[in-house]
Amino acid sequence: MKDLDKFHRELKAGETLFHEGEPGTCAYVLEEGEIEVATTRENERVVLAVVGPGALIGEMALINNRPRMATLTATQEARLIIITREYLADRLETADPMLRHILRVVLTRFREMINQVHGGRRAGESEVMLLDTADGEEDQTEAFGRLRVEQELELALGRGEFELFFQPIMRLSDGGVSGFEALIRWRKPDGTLVPPGLFIPVAEQSPLMMRIGHWIFDSGCAALRHLQDVSAETGNGRSLTMSVNLSAKQFGDPELFDRLNQALERENLDPGHLRVEITESMLLDSWDLAITFLNRCKDLGCKLAIDDFGTGYSSLSYLHKFPVDTMKLDQSFIREMFSSDASLKIVRALASLAHDLDMECIAEGIEEQMQGTALEDMGLEFVQGFFYGRPMPLKEAAEFLRENLTRAPAEAVSANT
Ligand code: C2E
Ligand code: CA
Ligand code: CA
Repeated sequence: MKDLDKFHRELKAGETLFHEGEPGTCAYVLEEGEIEVATTRENERVVLAVVGPGALIGEMALINNRPRMATLTATQEARLIIITREYLADRLETADPMLRHILRVVLTRFREMINQVHGGRRAGESEVMLLDTADGEEDQTEAFGRLRVEQELELALGRGEFELFFQPIMRLSDGGVSGFEALIRWRKPDGTLVPPGLFIPVAEQSPLMMRIGHWIFDSGCAALRHLQDVSAETGNGRSLTMSVNLSAKQFGDPELFDRLNQALERENLDPGHLRVEITESMLLDSWDLAITFLNRCKDLGCKLAIDDFGTGYSSLSYLHKFPVDTMKLDQSFIREMFSSDASLKIVRALASLAHDLDMECIAEGIEEQMQGTALEDMGLEFVQGFFYGRPMPLKEAAEFLRENLTRAPAEAVSANT
């Protein structure tokens, strides 16, 4: 037997991979060649199977330290990939807790069944578990909790319990409303409003996020149509924008672009009035899928924004490779602008970078007039934050628009979240 590297084995014809009764520490996938699986019954050699490329063999070793139950011999020159228990354990650590839970249950039942057939453990066999039973309860709680929320979200989507709230984005030059950001909420049947941070991460673990994403496009575009009509009624034209947030999981949705395009067409909207918001980490995590989708959006004429700019990976290198129009400065910088000199300098530097790159810059999280004034002095054009307006239902957003189209914001506006 030749050791190629720690991941591969090669066998000559007639060579034995392992003997029945030997301790097993790994499984194999047969890449090339043929292997005979044989056992001894009443001193007779019995061939159980002959397996070819693609076969998984010796997998019992992955389950516990059970001695090999058969002798495996190459009948032709063979090449194998090694799967160690450690490799599998590493994979399982990052796997979905539900999959881990199901595997743990199935393995335990299987092990019990084998012990019954063989009359308990054999000599040399130890109960080394692939999945640590100590973590079982934690996995089970997390898996069942997630399953319950996923099922609740599925029902919520069907029952129309999701709502978009709209937070105004203001122009500092004249205090008018430049557009809105659509922020999702889940209104439970008992009236409680669940913020996105509590259910979007769960939805992202399932294909449901794609369907929620379609609903966000449809609902966001319908709202923009309504708000533009309100704006036009008051003689302020139809230049309002709508920003929608995307989740990394949505990049894997083959219908994503068509759904966006259809929603824009249905509402007869200029694509230039829709802004897709993504974060830097989403971009870097799913580069190829993200770039394909975003380039199509760009070709259609939509605007692209990098959300929470300055946090996460903060790699500037993509800015010139990517068709970004808008930089959204993360609220953490604004919050610390007056207490940390570094934050103030970062805001100033990023605003200047956006300007030099011909990008629009929106500062997020403005809660006090002083912050707005400082940003205006720096030459920033757009602001968003509780000081100007909290995220609000569509009806209130339309009302807000009527009141603020041309009037400069003099004091904090209160609205319900
Ligand atoms: P984000 O996209 O950065 O949205 C801004 C968040 O900051 C919103 O929280 C908003 O309510 C909050 N915010 C706005 N102004 C202020 C302020 O002055 N002070 C403070 N402290 N907070 C302010 P929200 O609505 O809870 O959303 C949280 C995050 O959930 C969003 O962060 C976004 O990442 C995600 N999200 C929201 N809606 C959607 C959606 O429709 N789709 C996806 N994929 N994600 C969404
Ligand atoms: Ca956002
Ligand atoms: Ca943000």
